[in-house]
Amino acid sequence: MGSTRKPPANGEHIAILPLRNSVLFPMSVVPINVGRPRSVQLVEDLSGQERALVGVVTQRDPNAVEPTFDDLHQVGTLARVIKVIRLGQNNYSVVLNGLGRFRIGEPVGLEPYMQAKVDRLRASKSTEPNADLLAQKLRDGTRALMALLPDLPRELSGILDNVHEAGALADLVVANLPEDLAKVSERQQILEAVEVDERLILVMNLIDRQLSVLKVRDEIADQIRDEMSRSQREYVLREQMRSILEELGETGEQDDIDELRAKISRLELPEEASATARKQLSRLRGMQPQSAEYNVARTYVEWIADLPWHKTSSDQLDVKRVRQCLDEDHYGLDLVKKRIVEYSAIRQLRKDKKGPILLFVGPPGVGKTSLGRSIARAMGRKYGRISLGGVRDEAEIRGHRRTYVGALPGRIVQALKKVGVKNPVLVLDEVDKMGADVRGDPAAALLEVLDPEQNSTFVDHYIDLPFDLSQVMFLATANDRSGIPGPLKDRMEIIEVAGYTRMEKVQIAKQFLVPKQLRDHGLTDEQLEITTEGIELVLDHYTREAGVRGLEREIAALCRHAAVRLAEHKGEAPPARTDADFIEQVLGIQKYRPELAERKLSPGVATGLSVNNAGGDLLFIEVTRMPGKGKIHVTGNLRNVMKESAATAVSYVRSRAERLHLDPEWLKTTDLHLHIPRARAARDAAGAGLPMFIAVSSLLLGVAARPDTAATGEMTLRGRVLPVPDIKAKILAAHRAGIKTVVLPEGNRNDVQDVPEEVLSNLDLRFVERVDQVLPLVLEEPSGPLAGSAGEPDSASAPDHHVT
Ligand code: ADP
Repeated sequence: MGSTRKPPANGEHIAILPLRNSVLFPMSVVPINVGRPRSVQLVEDLSGQERALVGVVTQRDPNAVEPTFDDLHQVGTLARVIKVIRLGQNNYSVVLNGLGRFRIGEPVGLEPYMQAKVDRLRASKSTEPNADLLAQKLRDGTRALMALLPDLPRELSGILDNVHEAGALADLVVANLPEDLAKVSERQQILEAVEVDERLILVMNLIDRQLSVLKVRDEIADQIRDEMSRSQREYVLREQMRSILEELGETGEQDDIDELRAKISRLELPEEASATARKQLSRLRGMQPQSAEYNVARTYVEWIADLPWHKTSSDQLDVKRVRQCLDEDHYGLDLVKKRIVEYSAIRQLRKDKKGPILLFVGPPGVGKTSLGRSIARAMGRKYGRISLGGVRDEAEIRGHRRTYVGALPGRIVQALKKVGVKNPVLVLDEVDKMGADVRGDPAAALLEVLDPEQNSTFVDHYIDLPFDLSQVMFLATANDRSGIPGPLKDRMEIIEVAGYTRMEKVQIAKQFLVPKQLRDHGLTDEQLEITTEGIELVLDHYTREAGVRGLEREIAALCRHAAVRLAEHKGEAPPARTDADFIEQVLGIQKYRPELAERKLSPGVATGLSVNNAGGDLLFIEVTRMPGKGKIHVTGNLRNVMKESAATAVSYVRSRAERLHLDPEWLKTTDLHLHIPRARAARDAAGAGLPMFIAVSSLLLGVAARPDTAATGEMTLRGRVLPVPDIKAKILAAHRAGIKTVVLPEGNRNDVQDVPEEVLSNLDLRFVERVDQVLPLVLEEPSGPLAGSAGEPDSASAPDHHVT
């Protein structure tokens, strides 16, 4: 150890001065306050002596006032008393100079102050080269610490420069570290480290620990400083911008942006959406509010802010309630309702939400869309409608990229914004009316929307962020199932809604349409009494449709009229009643006459049945003849489709000429002209083969077909009658039009099951297998002899008896 002064002999008996909460190290000079009675006694005893020595030992427990040897550490520092300064009565300051380490050997006594025999401790010499290296590290570390902590005592740097002996260096460095860097227990541990290496390492550890603490603290401070200066900078810039904008009179825009920003932060958007919105907002700050770019960016952020990223309405999945809602909103439709209830039960059980999408197929006005609304109501969900009729561009579904001028999101996203929740019922209307062209196939985009594997991350081109569609419940409607793109149809479960009978329509009007229209027009049923007779009158003479949309429109017209009348009379108008006069006054002269059975058809006219997008309807076929070479002309919209059927019918008549008493020679000199006035689409013509045969036969035989009889069916050259689709809709149409007998292919017998009993009981259905069976069923009793060529050559008889 570094003392050159004469050490006390081992086992020497010395006075012990206990220290409460500090450690004296060899080599250091330290003033110590003394106040406890024993210590005062000791100081007073020593103060007369020249070069008095004292053993300074730290207490284990700083609170012990009169410590015993058990309360002291075993290792202390032998010190020389340099100076005693009297501060007051029983109060001294003693300046001590540490000399070297000792260990208490044998206590001698506690009074008048502690005394003990002590053994001097020395380091062994062997570790010195290592110690020099460690000492160098300690110097470096301490210098680094001093650079970071300018408050460290100045003495330290002198020590680092001038103290060459490693052990002393360690002692002096700790001795000069402030309290908070080296605790008493740590100092004592270092004091007890007699070997120099160990001592150096312990001190190094202290310094290193402090360095890393400071490093972390600095890093944090740097971060805080960066944050501070950035936000200060932004603040200053913003203030500048604000004053510039004020100068330019454009503060309104700025407020808008602030509002948007506030809205965005309120909304808790998904991470990605929120980052995108913020980025756009900061771009906005720098832009000219008048510029096109500004508007594009702003509209975009508004779209993001307006989408229901998280918002949902809570589901009420109760099958009973579904049934109840459907019944409350719709009359009849029992099969349809049953399937919807089944469907919702399954949806309730299947948590994965997979499974087909319900597709309602049927003519307009049969309640397809309003069924969708009921389903939404039953499930407690919001309802939205997306009209797909005429959509040919993929971007209509999926949006335009924002690089396009006037770009907008697709209809799905638009609908979501409108309903404001992410789990609505969305009805895709008229999926059969979509087309595809060079701008991409909307059906393909729609498939992606509907696919449960893909739609949880649906990306609209405009929004350009994934949006979760998996909670949307999609429904679809169509008029014509053949118009639905194949892959889409595969994803759907088709529910046919064919149309209503007259009786059903009356009930729908009484129970639903009339109360609704009265309510909508603010009328009571006393102010306008809509009678059953009135409804029937409207139904028979002002509408001809499978659904009830026209009926509802006419009822609305009646209500409107009554409301206007009431307003004109300041609410004092006498009650109105829907008698024939009132109806004719409001709706004009009758548009339709259903008394079809009463009118007469000329030979050459036959009644068929067709189905188009508006439901079932009658189809009239007219044939005339003229001198010629046995040719057949077909005119009307359906020329191409009909030509074959016509040729088949004519060939069949010819092949049976003899049986029908027709002169084959005469046929060779007669041209036939077939015309179908009302048909619009190929679908209309399915089943026209049989009526064509009837019309041709009727003409050639000169016998009229019965006006109250209609036929549908295809035929082969050999005279077999083949089944055709849409039987239910056709029968309903026949019934609506007052037809009494319907001739049907035997192969369609099973399709009649779906037709309401009310209709069946009023119709005479005749099923035929062969064409031969048909004529007796449909032709009038011939008035004269059935004459082959004697049929009145009435080329001018283009019959115009059909009623439209
Ligand atoms: P679609 O979508 O099939 O064209 P809508 O759903 O628009 O038909 O229906 C037209 C109108 O007829 C709506 O007001 C609807 O409420 C009413 N309606 C249709 N079917 C029924 C029914 N079975 N019961 C009561 N109202 C009906």
